[in-house]
Amino acid sequence: MSEATLSADVAIVGGGIMGSALAFWITRLDPRCVVVVVERDPSYARASSALSAAGIRQQYTTEINVRISQASIAFLRDAQRHLDRSAASLGLRESGYLYLATAAGAERLQARWRRQRALGVEVARLERADLAARFPWLAANDLALGTLGLRGEGWFDGPGLLAAFASQARAQGARYLRGEAVGFSGSGPHLDGIRLADGRIVRSAAIVNAAGPWARTVARWAGIELPVSARRRTVYVIDCPSRLAGLPLLIDPSGFWIRPEGAYYIAGYPPTPDEDGAPLEPDYAGFESVLWPALAERIPAFESARLRGAWAGYYEMNDFDQNGLLGTLPDHPRLWFINGFSGHGLQQAPVVARGLAERILFGRYRTLDLSALDVTRWADDRPLQEMNVI
Ligand SMILES: Cc1cc2nc3c(=O)[nH]c(=O)nc-3n(C[C@H](O)[C@H](O)[C@H](O)COP(=O)(O)OP(=O)(O)OC[C@H]3O[C@@H](n4cnc5c(N)ncnc54)[C@H](O)[C@@H]3O)c2cc1C
Repeated sequence: MSEATLSADVAIVGGGIMGSALAFWITRLDPRCVVVVVERDPSYARASSALSAAGIRQQYTTEINVRISQASIAFLRDAQRHLDRSAASLGLRESGYLYLATAAGAERLQARWRRQRALGVEVARLERADLAARFPWLAANDLALGTLGLRGEGWFDGPGLLAAFASQARAQGARYLRGEAVGFSGSGPHLDGIRLADGRIVRSAAIVNAAGPWARTVARWAGIELPVSARRRTVYVIDCPSRLAGLPLLIDPSGFWIRPEGAYYIAGYPPTPDEDGAPLEPDYAGFESVLWPALAERIPAFESARLRGAWAGYYEMNDFDQNGLLGTLPDHPRLWFINGFSGHGLQQAPVVARGLAERILFGRYRTLDLSALDVTRWADDRPLQEMNVI
């Protein structure tokens, strides 16, 4: 085989958290398996995995997402054992997520709380008086209800997790190729490789689309119009002179979220309009016009807050039902998807990547049944709607 042609058992487009966690699990479960990861930017400057808020929560509306989170938090708590020593610094803080509702949303929040409790989530129901007593800095007058995760929710070092997966995958034999994938060789059931811009080809009978917000472009090489778009989200870094004791990750009924980050706070909100592929620059104007007024209304101490900085990344949004798309499609049995995690991919990566590794290597899920996320549900028009998307 010429230098320009490499061969692999599994070839992955994209070395973000999905591609790297998958490379890690495949080489962990089958050390003889040859894995090649094609990544165009080893600095991950635009990759979602390097630009996220790195939160993990249990408060979902679909059972599968709760089950994934239960397994993910177990993995993160024990990361040092699974990964290498560097994982010791993942900085997991289980400070909780606090969902707030006014009267208009209280019934819905209550129904979700009931369901989550039935699934074993440790989540407290707080009425207005409880909220005011527990969080004295909160303007609670218009609030009717809150739900607070008591265990298994918080945040961690996202880039640290990516680095730990990638370095451990390499240590286990996975090969990272720096290069831009531009197409496939073969087609349909005969797909047999990834073509790179510099002319190299990675031959493989198992090809994985782990291209994050760029997943639709990659799927198009096989003639598939995957419903994944790149939705810009700005994360604002805010300085506030007052310390807000016990602030978890708070999700306001107006849509914004905020949490502590070192000496500062980070916050964001879902923008409208929410177009596909907006330039990857922070929306600084949105701080003054949208976020700050809403923040100061909910937490009056933020009236004297200042914007310290901001960054932007893409949610790899599944426009079909806002849940991950996993597995293969009937006409393309050699093309695997691990896409569309819609703002909750970093926390799910340890578990969904393990599941996909099991499917690729053994033909079935062995640890957690992830068939609810099968990409065929999109082809069959059977949405699995997740209502709690932040
Ligand atoms: C602002 C923000 C906040 C978020 N907050 C959270 C959170 O709190 N919790 C959570 O769980 N998730 C969160 N997410 C979502 C999370 O970051 C993503 O779900 C996850 O990182 C997706 O990982 P990925 O590997 O699929 O994509 P990426 O990390 O984007 O990786 C894809 C990689 O593919 C490479 N690539 C693409 N096309 C090609 C090609 N043609 N050739 C070679 N390489 C290619 C890219 O360079 C990139 O490195 C957030 C995302 C954003 C943007």
